[in-house]
Amino acid sequence: MKNIEKLIRPNVKKLVPYSSARSEYKEKEGVFLDANENNYCSGNYNRYPDPLQMELKEKISKSKKVAFSNIFLGNGSDEAIDLLVRCFCVPGKDNIIINPPTYGMYEVAANINDIEVRKIKLTKGFQLNIKEIEKALDKNTKLIFICSPNNPTGNTINKESILYLLNNFEGIVILDEAYIDFSENESLISELNKYPNLVVLQTFSKAFGLANLRIGMAFGNEILISILNKIKPPYNINGLSQKIALKAVTEKDEFHLMINAVKEERKKLSKKLQSLGITEKVFESAANFILVKFKEHKNVFQELTKNKIIVRDRSRTELCEDCLRITVGTREENKLLIKTLAEYEKAKGLVY
Ligand SMILES: *Cc1c(COP(=O)(O)O)cnc(C)c1O
Repeated sequence: MKNIEKLIRPNVKKLVPYSSARSEYKEKEGVFLDANENNYCSGNYNRYPDPLQMELKEKISKSKKVAFSNIFLGNGSDEAIDLLVRCFCVPGKDNIIINPPTYGMYEVAANINDIEVRKIKLTKGFQLNIKEIEKALDKNTKLIFICSPNNPTGNTINKESILYLLNNFEGIVILDEAYIDFSENESLISELNKYPNLVVLQTFSKAFGLANLRIGMAFGNEILISILNKIKPPYNINGLSQKIALKAVTEKDEFHLMINAVKEERKKLSKKLQSLGITEKVFESAANFILVKFKEHKNVFQELTKNKIIVRDRSRTELCEDCLRITVGTREENKLLIKTLAEYEKAKGLVY
């Protein structure tokens, strides 16, 4: 059994959190003269929101079958990433491990906090390089970030290697599952009870289609979650976002319709891209985007931009040379993308 408390930064462990008005008095009814709100305002937004997002978490708890005390909500997963770094890593001393090519925020959060980032490249098949990770570990390695399905490659990381790290690494393994709902694989949320050093990140930004609301979820050991709640800004998720997310969690049918549509379009788009001569490789994706290697990615990118079709240039990223990352759009958007690419290929008389 890994000792989570031992890993927490000493100053964070000792910290006395800010106690907000709404965390001291939780009832909904009353004459509220405690938070310096404007009681003359008749709108719906003059009151501070629930600092612990109780209602929303109750719903998430039911839907994900995770206990309330194992759920943290952040202002996007990005806030959870930042808080995890600050909770465990001592600036100028500790380090984290990331596995590029991967999501950029792990490194940025570490850099802001003056935490060393040890980069262990994924293998050519975009899997974890366990041997090299083990070599890079030392007593100051507090976190390993794993993204699965991985952004920008789109593939799933083997469960065995994640479990291996959970069993053998003394620090925290943070598994970012931002795209899990688009995947055929199960979430590792089911392993939370077995591994106190596992944190699973999910988000309302992708499958739920609520990126604008800024709500990210972190699932983990009760001690770890309570520390995140202690160091977060008191009212980190606004009331309107909480309300809309609450509704979205209950609308299961709509959610599944969206997911299935994305998956179906992903399959079609992938096939169409493969059939073009200008593509070198269309990588398999378990997410809502596809990484595509082009024979002349620069020209393709320019041509798409000229037609106001914006994709992400990932060509300067190691292992993603000549690659563009393309989000699966609506059926019409994907058709337009393919049409534009096919016309470009034809106009240039490109024969490969
Ligand atoms: C989009 C994305 C997120 C989501 O971040 P939010 O702050 O919740 O919007 C997290 N991780 C990865 C890998 C992503 O691609």
